[in-house]
Amino acid sequence: MNRQKPPKGIEWTRIRKADGTELPGYTWNPTGGCFHGCTWRMPDGSITECYAKTIAERFTSGYPNGFEHHYWRPHSLDAPRKLKIPAGIFVGSMADLFGHWVPEEQIRQVLAVMEEAQQHTFQTLSKFPIRLPEFNPFPENVWVGVSLPAGHLMSETGGARALKAYLKHMKRIEASVRFMSIEPLWFDVAPVFEDWLKTEDKLPFEWAIIGAASNGSRVFQPSEVWTARLIELLDRRNVPIFFKGNLEWDDWRDVFPSS
Ligand code: SF4
Repeated sequence: MNRQKPPKGIEWTRIRKADGTELPGYTWNPTGGCFHGCTWRMPDGSITECYAKTIAERFTSGYPNGFEHHYWRPHSLDAPRKLKIPAGIFVGSMADLFGHWVPEEQIRQVLAVMEEAQQHTFQTLSKFPIRLPEFNPFPENVWVGVSLPAGHLMSETGGARALKAYLKHMKRIEASVRFMSIEPLWFDVAPVFEDWLKTEDKLPFEWAIIGAASNGSRVFQPSEVWTARLIELLDRRNVPIFFKGNLEWDDWRDVFPSS
């Protein structure tokens, strides 16, 4: 059994390089707020909403117009440039930088900062992947992620259909690392990937993050069958896997892509 749970927080920003050194992990929010309104139905029937929304509604000084509002913070653009120590930086932990409501000019300004701050590795995560190829090619030091579709009213069939569409958009992304955040693993995604591989020679991502569902302090583990199937498929396709700390699994994975 190989199990070394990482500390809490957004653990996947603390990137481990091929030589074993670990970068400190930060979040950076030059934009704030999000209109996606993600919700998830928990196995006990309760509904949970986006963690960022909960935080924003608790600390209202940074979100005076609520979370479903677009905030542009040009004053924070300098932050990565000033940080000289190489770091892993998750861009938009309280937003979707590529949301349909974000002006293109603002996204380009953020991308320009990332390109300039070559000492860092940036990670972005979006639930609006149709927009991502518009920004091709992404700077070499930017890992471009897409999250599993979400919505408590969405059926598993609907989730699978949306995921298929996401994969098509991901295929068009030009980035050194494309990744998929499968968190929470709320339906059986492996068959969707298997279907994709019937007509494509590879998955359209180079890294996968897998996590359990949570509602406050309550954590709900995904079906072991779904998890095992997914891990087997990703292993077969040599896609490195990173487990969120809330997942319970004996064969622990916290592998980063080699880029
Ligand atoms: S996309 Fe992210 S930030 Fe936006 S509502 Fe969904 S989970 Fe929250």
